[in-house]
Amino acid sequence: MAEIRIEQLRKEFSGFTAVQNSSFTVQDGEFFVMVGPSGCGKTTTLRMIAGLELPTSGRILLDGEDVTMRRARERDIAFVFQLFALYPHMNVRKNIGFPLLAQGMPGAEIRQRVEEVAKLLRIDHLLDRPVSGLAGGDRQRVALGRAIVRRPKCFLMDEPLGTLDTEFRDLMVHELRELHNRIRATTVYVTHDQMEAMSMADKIAVMNHGVIEQFGTPREIYDRPRTMYVADFMGSPPMNFLSFSSGLAKGDSTVAILGAKIAVPQIREDVPLAELALGVRPEHIRLDDASPIRGEILGAEYLGTTQIVSVETPGGLLKARIPADEHVTTGEQVGLALSGGHLSVFDRTSGRAIETALFEGAAHG
Ligand code: ATP
Repeated sequence: MAEIRIEQLRKEFSGFTAVQNSSFTVQDGEFFVMVGPSGCGKTTTLRMIAGLELPTSGRILLDGEDVTMRRARERDIAFVFQLFALYPHMNVRKNIGFPLLAQGMPGAEIRQRVEEVAKLLRIDHLLDRPVSGLAGGDRQRVALGRAIVRRPKCFLMDEPLGTLDTEFRDLMVHELRELHNRIRATTVYVTHDQMEAMSMADKIAVMNHGVIEQFGTPREIYDRPRTMYVADFMGSPPMNFLSFSSGLAKGDSTVAILGAKIAVPQIREDVPLAELALGVRPEHIRLDDASPIRGEILGAEYLGTTQIVSVETPGGLLKARIPADEHVTTGEQVGLALSGGHLSVFDRTSGRAIETALFEGAAHG
């Protein structure tokens, strides 16, 4: 088990900055997910933690010990890649046991460890089968088995489910999380898929252009995004933004927008007249004829238990998630109620949230 501490980590590739002064701590036993679009620096960060890439500056500490300049094999870290190079001529047992054989462990001990791990992954019935005939999910489990059999201090995983089809992926997301709950090994997991991040992580870092935009629990990231980028990247459909101009004072807890006075979490600084955005998640909008915020229904996407309704308002397009049985007609004028406790307020110029991050039930790490 291990704590991973990253201090001011930076990586430049011939003048291009791939990772800019990242700092975060992954607590012992935590499942930590780095999420962001392609090219934002996730893999580079992971490779530096693994010792496969040297940082331009900054430090990496493993259990308080500076390992920045140590080679990969001196770090006791298991790296699980997207494309697993299983040994096709070996059976499942030999594939899983290979790292122990390479360490020179006696045969009986290898056998015992491999069987333990195979049971944990529920592939013990496949131990004597060749890997070449296995289905994608089982191959993935063999690769995981090979990583966990060494009992490393921590796991680094780079889009390990990237090549699986959706059905297997959902299953493996669940299995990986369950496996983590059982072995509690510190894990750093990289993905571009926000749903994967939300459903697996204890803590998430949302990355953008080499910068960590926000670090926190899935709930903090989703409920209290600190930037418009995070609000937009996390959530499907993403957070809506209603544009308005206003000056606000520290401590204000209402904003005037589209003829309505809306309760918001307290504003945390004085803001001179500025272009602002009120952020609201689709599930926090209701159709309410009494509301002064009005718009025209452009269309509805039926999803079974809910529907996503697009409404054009003078402040911009809003997507509302409402019950599937609520009747709406394209072209209809509707009123929209926004639920106060869940709203965010952003400065459009900086893209930063200007309301307080504190909210009921929040745990800040
Ligand atoms: P992806 O999911 O596509 O791998 P990522 O978020 O993991 O994206 P990185 O692979 O870390 O992103 O790459 C970050 C940036 O650094 C990219 O613009 C990439 O082109 C650049 N980069 C990565 N490795 C190198 C390298 N060895 N030489 C030059 N540029 C590199």
